[in-house]
Amino acid sequence: MPELPEVETVRLGLLSLLPGKTVQAVSSNTPKIFPNAQHDVDQFLVGASVRDIRRRAKVLIIDLDNDYSLIIHLKMTGQLVFRANDDSARFGAGHPNDSLIGALPDKTTHVIFDFGDSKLFFNDQRKFGWVRLLPTIEIPEIDFFRKFGPEPLADDFTAADFIKRLEQRPRSNIKAVLLDQAVIAGIGNIYADESLFAAQVHPLTLVKNIPKTNKEKLFHELQAVLRLSLEKGGATEENYVNAKGEKGSYQLFAKVYHRDGQPCLVCGTIIEKSRVAGRGTHTCPTCQPKPKEKNEKNK
Ligand SMILES: [Zn+2]
Repeated sequence: MPELPEVETVRLGLLSLLPGKTVQAVSSNTPKIFPNAQHDVDQFLVGASVRDIRRRAKVLIIDLDNDYSLIIHLKMTGQLVFRANDDSARFGAGHPNDSLIGALPDKTTHVIFDFGDSKLFFNDQRKFGWVRLLPTIEIPEIDFFRKFGPEPLADDFTAADFIKRLEQRPRSNIKAVLLDQAVIAGIGNIYADESLFAAQVHPLTLVKNIPKTNKEKLFHELQAVLRLSLEKGGATEENYVNAKGEKGSYQLFAKVYHRDGQPCLVCGTIIEKSRVAGRGTHTCPTCQPKPKEKNEKNK
């Protein structure tokens, strides 16, 4: 489940490795993941050099020097792993599993970008991710990107902007609104649960019933949770601790996410798991009292 911090971690790792490298060859036997026509690949990808790597929401954009870009969505179980042929450099991040650290290609490898002295592997256990080649200029125009709301960590995204966007959905529960990529881009289940816990707001609370000061607190907690995860490096090869059975660092700091049945770190009450907005939801019944509204929407 790579989320915004994991995808940003992938971006920063690859940004120190890929720019300037030229694609020598590309291989893929999985059209679902790599649905690009062979003549486009031959003409616009092979021979092009990496210029920059950007991120929008949970999607990576690798810009090439010929005004084409690779758009990469890791979805549920995707990961990108870079290996120098002489093993002088290696980096892997995304979904935390053994393919991050093992010999590649393996059975989860679906695309290989060969740079001559190194390779980039796109691995995906469940095959929901994808890699598309597009003219760079078309990216902002495709529906997929148009629908995204602002980036939660953008310098110019303020608490006032956040509150204004939430208030466009007054009768929805706050968790559904946080997860709606059109409201804010890139917030997934773990960061929704963690920020709501930190702000002491129950996920079923309707937006119109949350006081302004609590909405402000939620904004700051959401940014804090995302920044902490970025600082911890998301889920990378480096912090993938297989021996302990821990799947990357992003779960190690979680206070409620996947902690159901364990005591709340603030008050000791047992963390509960329920279903809100169609997603497994973790709350402390004491720190986040359930709203008393009769007609809960978007359950
Ligand atoms: Zn508590």
